[in-house]
Amino acid sequence: MNTDNIRSLFPILNQQVYGKPLVYFDNAATTQKPQAVIDELCRYYTTLNSNIHRGAHYLAAQATEKYEETRIAVQSFVNARHSHEIIFTRGTTESINLVAASFGQAFLHEGDEVVISAMEHHSNIVPWQLACQRHGATLRTIPFNDQGVLDIEALPGLLNEHTRIVAVNHVSNTLGTINPIADIVTIAHSRNIPVLVDGAQAISHMKVDVQALGCDFYCFSGHKMYGPMGVGVMYGREELLEKMPPYQGGGEMIKEVTFEQTTYNELPFKFEAGTPSVGDVLALKAAIDFMLQTGIDNIAAHEKELTDYATSRLLTIDGIRLFGTAPDKTSVISFLIGNAHPYDTGTLLDKLGIAVRTGHHCTQPIMDKYGIPGTVRASFAVYNTIEEVDALYAALKRIAPILL
Ligand code: PMP
Repeated sequence: MNTDNIRSLFPILNQQVYGKPLVYFDNAATTQKPQAVIDELCRYYTTLNSNIHRGAHYLAAQATEKYEETRIAVQSFVNARHSHEIIFTRGTTESINLVAASFGQAFLHEGDEVVISAMEHHSNIVPWQLACQRHGATLRTIPFNDQGVLDIEALPGLLNEHTRIVAVNHVSNTLGTINPIADIVTIAHSRNIPVLVDGAQAISHMKVDVQALGCDFYCFSGHKMYGPMGVGVMYGREELLEKMPPYQGGGEMIKEVTFEQTTYNELPFKFEAGTPSVGDVLALKAAIDFMLQTGIDNIAAHEKELTDYATSRLLTIDGIRLFGTAPDKTSVISFLIGNAHPYDTGTLLDKLGIAVRTGHHCTQPIMDKYGIPGTVRASFAVYNTIEEVDALYAALKRIAPILL
């Protein structure tokens, strides 16, 4: 894979900040977009803008066709059985809220339990807390060890006849840990408990096959996979989606409305109330095309090389503490320099042109476990280079003695 060629597709990377070449290592927060994605957004608003599914005119028909083509592209991308199992949302957060609210309404009752992991993003914690509060259920958590590996052996003991769903992330945004989803599904399904997977941090790094994983729901965001902000996906197994009530009411999700009674539209429209972000959905297809053309295996191999190299370089710096050292992890490196506040490290790196994330990364329970206020997080994408990792290493080597 030629990284120069890949970088040339991403105009934003070719710039200086504070007079230094931009090194963008905040990819777990959001990835940059290739020109093809930007062009698609522009093309939509320049030539196609219209509301889908309703109009009797040419533009509306074209936009609808392309919108539904993207649904099929997503279906194929994650290997869902049916295209109507792909629901477009605003992002992972909305996808999980949809399931927690709708599944909760259908299946959660007083005394029931919901199991999540202790390494979840707040968006896979709070929606379940809200659902539990609403229905009188209890939230339980699967612990993880100091390396950041989930204690999967604890899972069977957390499941019982009251457990209604297990919700876990595929990859931790803070620790990089890849969780053994297929094993979790096997354990949960042996007790007829469905599994929701937060795939926000997995979808751009590995081949995701929802049928091979066996999960019942899989949620992700377009903007973390080289696509635009404002669009996400909730994959749900047909059998469960059919049993779940609508999440939001409004246009498009209905068959017939009278003041006495409303009947709902079929899947997927039952869960897509109102006007969706059509341009963003169309541009998501361009992002998928970019990933497929680049090759997901190539992306994964390149990111692994960067991660292994960065880890070994950083560990040679006095005072570096890594958080998340699971054997199976993606391209996320969370660290601190001694007890220095992560914000100080991040600010100094920024002045050297290196963009990282600092703070709790919306995973406060992980920070509580390690007894730290937050971490500095460098996360890599397909367009990052070994030279950029060298720049991070050189910067940290300069910064560490100042902060220690
Ligand atoms: N889950 C995980 C693991 C994440 O990393 C993120 C984004 N940081 C989210 C959920 C939420 O994604 P979004 O903000 O795109 O809805």
